[in-house]
Amino acid sequence: MPVERTLAIIKPDAVRRNLTGEILSRIHQAGLQIVAIKSLRLSRAEAEGFYAVHRERPFFNDLTEFMSSGKVVVMVLEGENAILRWRELMGATDPAQAAPGTIRREFGTSIQNNCTHGSDAPETAAFEVSYFFAAYEL
Ligand code: ATP
Ligand code: MG
Repeated sequence: MPVERTLAIIKPDAVRRNLTGEILSRIHQAGLQIVAIKSLRLSRAEAEGFYAVHRERPFFNDLTEFMSSGKVVVMVLEGENAILRWRELMGATDPAQAAPGTIRREFGTSIQNNCTHGSDAPETAAFEVSYFFAAYEL
């Protein structure tokens, strides 16, 4: 299996509710390595740039307002099949549809406020990692 890197975000809803430690613990327990990590607050424009692929979607305005509403924790995770493994730990986008035991099922409160983000493919992971981290941070 390929060793991959993926971009993970603990979203403002989860940071506000002090779920950061619980989520980091699940990442460690799954055997994924945290290559880089930082806490920051996105401006509206930075959130719009990150989610540019969704700009035509009806939820784009609400999503970028939410993502810039408070601190987030952004990190680069590394491991075999890291992209899929992190998405499996998160669960489906809608917490109501997510499998039992997943982060979104246990802690998400709506399809928007679903606690975490994960890249969905190697190409998007490369873009998203470079959006937040310079080479010297990795
Ligand atoms: P993410 O990209 O955050 O890991 P995802 O790949 O499961 O999640 P996307 O379809 O890429 O989901 O949507 C990006 C984010 O937009 C979702 O995580 C969620 O916060 C929000 N979102 C998605 N669909 C909806 C919707 N129908 N209504 C409101 N918000 C939504
Ligand atoms: Mg996505």
